Amino acid sequence: MSLATFAQPYSAPGALGKSANVKQNSRCVYLDYAASTPLDKRVLEVMTFLLSRDVIGNAHAKHHPYGGAAAMVVQKAREQVADAVEATPEEIIFTSGATESNNLAIKGLAEHLKSSGRTHVITTVVEHKSVLEPVAHLKAAGFDVTTLLVKPCGMITADVIERALRSNTGLVCVQAVNNELGTVQPLAKISDVLAGRDILFQCDAAQALGKIPLSMRSLCIDFASLSAHKVYGPQGIGALYVSSGRAQLLAPLLAGGGQEQGLRSGTLPVALCAGFGAACSLIEDDREHFQSLREAFLARIEKLNPVVYGHREAQKNAPGILNIRFPGIDNDTLVMALPELAIGIGSACNSAGQKLSHVVKAITDDEQAARESVRISFGRQTTKEELGTAAQRLIDVVTTIQELSGGTYSENCICW
Ligand code: PMP
Repeated sequence: MSLATFAQPYSAPGALGKSANVKQNSRCVYLDYAASTPLDKRVLEVMTFLLSRDVIGNAHAKHHPYGGAAAMVVQKAREQVADAVEATPEEIIFTSGATESNNLAIKGLAEHLKSSGRTHVITTVVEHKSVLEPVAHLKAAGFDVTTLLVKPCGMITADVIERALRSNTGLVCVQAVNNELGTVQPLAKISDVLAGRDILFQCDAAQALGKIPLSMRSLCIDFASLSAHKVYGPQGIGALYVSSGRAQLLAPLLAGGGQEQGLRSGTLPVALCAGFGAACSLIEDDREHFQSLREAFLARIEKLNPVVYGHREAQKNAPGILNIRFPGIDNDTLVMALPELAIGIGSACNSAGQKLSHVVKAITDDEQAARESVRISFGRQTTKEELGTAAQRLIDVVTTIQELSGGTYSENCICW
């Protein structure tokens, strides 16, 4: 892919090179907020202020004023991230994002779990790849892994987890909100099942931050992964929440200067930390707004009889994530026919070209369904008008494809 193609929707002078200096594609409606949210202008202001200083000190060089100032900025950011999840600042370890956080928590526990003889790990089929792959790494290292099936709505129940527990279960990895379906997992019930059992609970909360209330204080979660670019913060920064007293169980992935309590060596990116902190401080409860957008959008496209995946109860699904399918139409055909809509296919984090969603495959046991589902996700900037345009384009394109392929489909299934 040439740089010009890669940068097509952007107007980027200078550093990206002349070929990238293309006019913003204003006709492309962005509906892929679950993949990445735009940087909030207020976050950008904070970051620009820092990045335009003559010097950004190293937050670990506190013996001079530049380092001292940087350390203060990082500390403030740590407090803001901690507040967003009801944790303490000491429980926040900055990382490059949720992928790294998941890896640090899961791979980082391997030695501890082995030495304590707790080598059984439980996870679910609908986890993000950045959980499934590190768990596969543990399996390759001799751990027993149980990967639990979920209900058709994508939800795992606490009972199913309880039944899968063994005397040597050491770790349970369950996400908070599914990135492809929006399904909210019953964290409080899972916490209750695991409480007092000496089993560690790792939770990928990348899609939960900003979408549902998260309280580390009231849940028995030991490790939770967070990502700034899902909450209108910058890409390239996230955090691992490490519950008080659990840090010594983890082995770092990186060897180096021992920053972040020895768990994440490397100089902290001060402006990214500040951006993440600012984004966390700006989190608002958008659920009602998103729910009404979702309902209006679904009503508009009702005549297409889409299959809708996810939980049908508003409280159990992040309303900004909508996974739909038009039977008979492959998702890549659909997105190619809709260049004016930026929508998701499967998980954006899956390797290039993988259009088959492992999540939809898991809940339907149907490869065709997994190849046909698309994710539409909205965010703060999404307007009713944009969704109206998107709905109309979907109606036009889906109807045309169905007519060309000789028929419409009447299956209408809301999974729950
Ligand atoms: N977990 C989930 C559920 C996600 O949605 C994502 C991002 N798609 C990640 C982990 C990875 O996050 P990051 O991009 O910060 O590495």
